[in-house]
Amino acid sequence: MIERYDTLLRNGTVVDPANGVHEIRDIALRDGKIVEVASSIAGGARREHDLTGLLVMPGIVDMHVHLSPFLGGGCGHRMLALAGVTTALDMAGPIEGVVDLAVRHGCGLSIACVNYLRPGHTIASADPGRGDIDDALSHALSQGAIGLKLLGGHYPLTAEATAQAIAAAAGHGAYAAFHAGTQSVGSNIEGTREACELSAGHPLHLAHINSYCRGQTHDAVSEGEEALALLAAHPHIRSESYLAPFNGVSGECIDGVPGSRLAAFGLERGGYAATSEGMAEAILTGWALVNLERDGIIELVGGSEGLAAWHACGSLIGISFRANPPEPRLRLVTATRLDGRFAVDALATDGGGIPRNDIVARGLALVHLDALSLEGFVRKASLHPARILGLRDKGHLGVGADADITVLDLERRRPVLTYAHGQRLLDGEAVVGRGGRLVTTPAGETAVRAAGLDALVIQPGSMLKTPQ
Ligand SMILES: [Zn+2]
Repeated sequence: MIERYDTLLRNGTVVDPANGVHEIRDIALRDGKIVEVASSIAGGARREHDLTGLLVMPGIVDMHVHLSPFLGGGCGHRMLALAGVTTALDMAGPIEGVVDLAVRHGCGLSIACVNYLRPGHTIASADPGRGDIDDALSHALSQGAIGLKLLGGHYPLTAEATAQAIAAAAGHGAYAAFHAGTQSVGSNIEGTREACELSAGHPLHLAHINSYCRGQTHDAVSEGEEALALLAAHPHIRSESYLAPFNGVSGECIDGVPGSRLAAFGLERGGYAATSEGMAEAILTGWALVNLERDGIIELVGGSEGLAAWHACGSLIGISFRANPPEPRLRLVTATRLDGRFAVDALATDGGGIPRNDIVARGLALVHLDALSLEGFVRKASLHPARILGLRDKGHLGVGADADITVLDLERRRPVLTYAHGQRLLDGEAVVGRGGRLVTTPAGETAVRAAGLDALVIQPGSMLKTPQ
């Protein structure tokens, strides 16, 4: 028999809110695209899957991950594939490291990157002028990034430079993402308020809203409500939040004290001294968990094994604290605006190489609790982030869309099969995908292809349109 299709996905329960579909359907894939969706498709394929009893959704798009040597490392690609993700936005760079790791560790994912403005790395100082910012942005775009990341929580710039960077990105039609916080205001709800002002009406992706609602300035619940009010008052700002209790910081101690302010805060919040002794004690008791690589993935490890790993690295290893109180996490992920749209656009993880790739596990727990509908889950985990990133052929399962598909076992709350651009990435518990592609702009296409990656070129001007 002549095989009409590359792949046939049969009998799955398809949830595709962009096309108003929530029914049992067959889906046919050919040449990396969806070519037919129908209640029954005749004809053969090189590979067929019977997905009876399983949920079929457009591939998960995690718009906040880390896949660079500086954060996450090469394990992140495999961890994302195991989590059912098919597209992800690296939220720091450096773009050169992200491209290099994608070449060496790619599992078939589509990866985009925003490159950080970091004093001493991509810019000279924490108060760069507009010319310096324009140069850093042009360099980032030429290497394949889609825009800039402002790392206010870790390496804050002055408020003026932050505003200039957001304006510069808008001027180039590039993407701007911001971990709130400047040299004047902390990375908390006050920083969120400042970020809204500094955006001055320009498009902006405000990162991990939940992380500004940890009870640092008021109580966490009222901070969550203020964050929602700020987002409602600034509709040009796009946002995501994550569901994991854990944060991710550097465990490095310099001269006997943590180098990261967030690490010191994590220790004090657990009743430990903000010193290297306090860090060692917190790791031993499991309050601080070391991000330890085991068998190609990173896991959270405390106790004597975690402590030994922290010592072995001379303290230079990632650490996670239970920094995120539950109430704002749950409120932010489910809250809607007056018109019924979600207040926070997307469900992301801040994961990748940081072990909290839990869109499926924790997101489906909310579906199980009736806190999110299945359609709402698919909107937040795929459709909205695809639209915000300007990926018109992702986030839905219409004919002509990219063959990016995530298949979920709702009972076990885990992914069982994924395809990206028609290539199988995850099958059961095995990661079988290879290579991958970088989502880039016309300015970065040449560099991406020269590095040995496929390029998925988007038009920068199409970014940050309101999700439907
Ligand atoms: Zn992050």
